[in-house]
Amino acid sequence: MALEIRRPEMTGRAPLVDGFQRRITYLRLSVTDRCDFRCSYCMPEAMKFLPRSEVLSLEELHKLALAFIARGVRKIRLTGGEPLVRRDMVELVQALGSRLGHGLDELTITTNGTQLALFADRLASAGVRRVNVSLDTLDPALFEKLTRRDRLDKVLEGIAAAKAAGLKVKINAVALKGLNEAELPDLIEWAHAQGHDITLIEVMPLGEVEGDRVDHYLPLCVVQDRLEERWSLSPSTHSSGGPARYFDIAATGGRLGLITPLTNNFCAGCNRLRVTATGQLYPCLGGGERVDLRAAMRSDNPEAMLDAALDEAMQIKPERHHFRIDARGAEPSQPRHMSMTGG
Ligand code: SAM
Ligand code: SF4
Repeated sequence: MALEIRRPEMTGRAPLVDGFQRRITYLRLSVTDRCDFRCSYCMPEAMKFLPRSEVLSLEELHKLALAFIARGVRKIRLTGGEPLVRRDMVELVQALGSRLGHGLDELTITTNGTQLALFADRLASAGVRRVNVSLDTLDPALFEKLTRRDRLDKVLEGIAAAKAAGLKVKINAVALKGLNEAELPDLIEWAHAQGHDITLIEVMPLGEVEGDRVDHYLPLCVVQDRLEERWSLSPSTHSSGGPARYFDIAATGGRLGLITPLTNNFCAGCNRLRVTATGQLYPCLGGGERVDLRAAMRSDNPEAMLDAALDEAMQIKPERHHFRIDARGAEPSQPRHMSMTGG
């Protein structure tokens, strides 16, 4: 099928199309590598964070986002680390929010929820309509074990505040064998009862953590089979343009997404790029390919250099990732933690 290539509105600049004819319209921008949790599948307990001097300033993040919008990116998700622990985060959201309807269609955030009670109203006022909140369990003891923090109440308060502020909440849960495995149906029921969609994610081999990922890797085909013994899952026509497959569950009255990077490769439809808080563009979450946007931005001719860097990213974006979790003691597929690349 021929790819329709329209030039990004207003700028006349070339759209971002990679070597496999995938049109890139979605940016995940990490605003910090820091976090107030230490989720055991995401990072080690003694995680070392970057010196603040290496992280892009608010102005640089803004400038970078505008450069992507000028090349046809229409959706931006701010992530991290925990984006809401960055002090000037609301200013960035407000600045980008002013581009909604002017090249940008959607501005969203992925958060662990601890700061949502504080910020939900301001995010909504700035034009954010949806937030993804990561919540793997409703059991306080397991929550503390997984996040290494006793803050389930704060997260639940944050989710309620987001709903009260009119934000559409999607719960993201990583499925973990022997940890939240048995609780997943209850978590789905709870989310749907609260009016939230929920998406389950397979754990990915990104960065060193304590323990072996094989021990907690739970293929979602197994979860799906079990859920189908309990409820009827109807494939949904809903699409977020992302990698999730969606199902409607009449019994719980909500939608379930499944993200299966390990058991069901979804790269053919990939429309996204990821930029770390230090301005490193990774065209693939599972690949080592990288373009240094910070250097481009700090050069003598930032606009041209940024454009050239984005063109280079289109050339090096790989066809697919090569995640595997099948051998005990194996090295992670990528040494970068998810908190670094931005989930
Ligand atoms: N701190 C925010 C949060 O937790 O929502 C945003 C960043 S976090 C890295 C984004 C998402 O990545 C979270 O839903 C988290 O559960 C998920 N995640 C982290 N490490 C992962 C891994 N190794 N495999 C799969 N998902 C992971
Ligand atoms: Fe922090 Fe999110 Fe990683 Fe948990 S998953 S440690 S909340 S960045």
